[in-house]
Amino acid sequence: MQKKPFVTKEKLEQINRAFPTPYHLYDEAGIRRTARSLLAAFSWHENYREHYAVKACPNPFILEILKEEGCGVDCASMAELKLAHACGFEGEQIMFSSNETPAEEYEYARTLGAIINLDDITHIPFLAEHGGIPKRICLRYNPGGAFHVSPTCMGEPGTSKYGMTREQIFEAVRQLRALGAEEFALHAFLASNALDNAYYAANARVLFELAADVHRELGVPFFMVNLSGGVGIPYRPDEAMPDIALIGREVERTFEEVMVPAGLWDTRISTELGRFMTGPHGLLITKAVHEKHIYKEYIGVDACAANLMRPAMYGAYHHITVMGKEDAPCDHMYDVVGSLCENNDKFAIDRMLPKIDMGDILAIHDTGAHGFAMGYNYNGRLRSAEVLLNEDGSFRLIRRAETLSDYFATLCFDPEDPLCAALSHAAD
Ligand SMILES: *Cc1c(COP(=O)(O)O)cnc(C)c1O
Repeated sequence: MQKKPFVTKEKLEQINRAFPTPYHLYDEAGIRRTARSLLAAFSWHENYREHYAVKACPNPFILEILKEEGCGVDCASMAELKLAHACGFEGEQIMFSSNETPAEEYEYARTLGAIINLDDITHIPFLAEHGGIPKRICLRYNPGGAFHVSPTCMGEPGTSKYGMTREQIFEAVRQLRALGAEEFALHAFLASNALDNAYYAANARVLFELAADVHRELGVPFFMVNLSGGVGIPYRPDEAMPDIALIGREVERTFEEVMVPAGLWDTRISTELGRFMTGPHGLLITKAVHEKHIYKEYIGVDACAANLMRPAMYGAYHHITVMGKEDAPCDHMYDVVGSLCENNDKFAIDRMLPKIDMGDILAIHDTGAHGFAMGYNYNGRLRSAEVLLNEDGSFRLIRRAETLSDYFATLCFDPEDPLCAALSHAAD
């Protein structure tokens, strides 16, 4: 299947006149469409809620769109909690699924009334001291071993740092109950970027069965099961988008089979999807600025791995469209590379593309989640702008590009210091 960008070349040329490349462009209409399809898929449960994983795209303008669609948020740090609060999320609209959590973050999450998702049993006395044990609390489960859904879909919980063992979950419930907790929830994240429609219900079954067992043995009520993230997106043109309606029905069937007979029909279902929600609705827009002909053919672009780390970090595939050449034959093999002094700074390796000319606009697909968010400043490369394509076809800046002054700001301690003046002068 051909992967098509959600904008035309003409629209990009118009945006480029206002905001120079590189930038991430997000599609409001697409984000709303996906949010609605997810909420419809889980509408069989009257108390369903999606807590969008803020880390996937931590921009308040995106969070506000999702809020309007009825989503909550999932946070894991002080900055994410503060962003959520600034966007008007409150109380149980906020999940706090952190790990190795600093004391002040528990304290702040408690003042917001967020649902604390406890990553480890040793955090119980820590939380008791910093913020206090809430009446309703969520526990993160790690079943260990390997989690096989199908030959193409698996996770390795046994080597993952998150969550508690089965024995620890039972023990944590006992300890928390003694400290005043009354209602419990469970959470687990067993595989990432799963394209198999069976994944989410398999993850749900693990949680539902554990909730039923804990309920039977300890008699505690469960207010929620949180299926976490992990539903994937088709980064490659030959992959298919998971069928979210089918996934919703499969989770429903599992709920009917496990939770209802256990007397847990009242337990709320939530999700913490990030990638699935916004991933396909972002593009990294960049320009071809250099070409190089040595042992291989290289196209140098004005974006680099600091703007999109996934290819360098995981060898991840991101589709590339050369704008205006959608129907041209892909008869040139290129490495499409950024400017970092790091040989893994390659958006594509041995990629068959149409002939690229200097100044061509390249759209790098599926950067709406874990794209800008994973940015960094290596080589003094600056974070790009983020632009939102509004539903009506107009566009607006939702984050300006970083400047050299931003980059130098943390080096300036005393405005009287000549170094400060020199850096400020250099940034102009
Ligand atoms: C990253 C993360 C998510 C979102 O994962 P996706 O793969 O983007 O769906 C959800 N929950 C937790 C706890 C996470 O760390």
